[in-house]
Amino acid sequence: MRIVLFGVRGSTPAPGPDFVRYGGHTSCVGVVPEGGMTPSLVLDAGTGLRELTPHLAGEPFRGSILVSHLHWDHVQGLPFFAAGDRPDAKVDLYVPAQNARSGRDLLAAAMAPPNFPITPEGLEGAWTFNAIDAGYHAIERFRIRATDVEHKGGRTFGYRISDETGSLAYIPDHVVSHGIDDAVRDLILDVDVLLHDAQFLDRERPTADNYGHSTVEDAVRLARECGVRHLVLFHHSPARKDDALDEIAGMYPSDFVTVATQGTEIQVSRP
Ligand SMILES: [Zn+2]
Ligand SMILES: [Zn+2]
Repeated sequence: MRIVLFGVRGSTPAPGPDFVRYGGHTSCVGVVPEGGMTPSLVLDAGTGLRELTPHLAGEPFRGSILVSHLHWDHVQGLPFFAAGDRPDAKVDLYVPAQNARSGRDLLAAAMAPPNFPITPEGLEGAWTFNAIDAGYHAIERFRIRATDVEHKGGRTFGYRISDETGSLAYIPDHVVSHGIDDAVRDLILDVDVLLHDAQFLDRERPTADNYGHSTVEDAVRLARECGVRHLVLFHHSPARKDDALDEIAGMYPSDFVTVATQGTEIQVSRP
């Protein structure tokens, strides 16, 4: 499989000349199955989801969206996803189950008047809104494992996505300074590619802990401990300018660590 990075920021979009090289859209990653041309699975629906529409070159989206958690930066692209908001689109959306509420109701807490002009039903096409539990799921020909990870404010999943060609772990929002539990370690163990929260730096530790996020150094330590083959630093602070991200890229060997860049593709395959 391969992945396409449509949005790599955390918290809120980062427009302006200081952010053009790494990109300003919030979290969204397309997963293209082996032999496929376009993503059938999308991880998170941040503002980067808008980039999937031109990528599909006029075709509707017919696939699934797996949401890590319901914070704005992971769902705000949904109502602006033109390829999914048309009569011939077919989209199955999955969010972490919580508070005994339906997937539709969880989403409508942010996406309904007076907070937004339309409710989830206002999207055209055949949409389903599903609340899922931790554990194993079969979605779009991928094996999906969902595991609770520590973050802040609501339930957050990390996902492991695998097929016969390789394995990917996606954990965009995660605080690790309190220690890593065995389930999370197991989720990441020996993956070919890990996309992980790297919003802060060790010198910003108090803010990282307060916001429920990791540092770049946390992500690197975690990847080394868990036998990850390649780490992609993801969910950059909206304040982190291109030059600062260049500096971070220069701190680690490029065959082990990549700084996520909007618009790039990464092959995920077993050696
Ligand atoms: Zn986030
Ligand atoms: Zn979050």
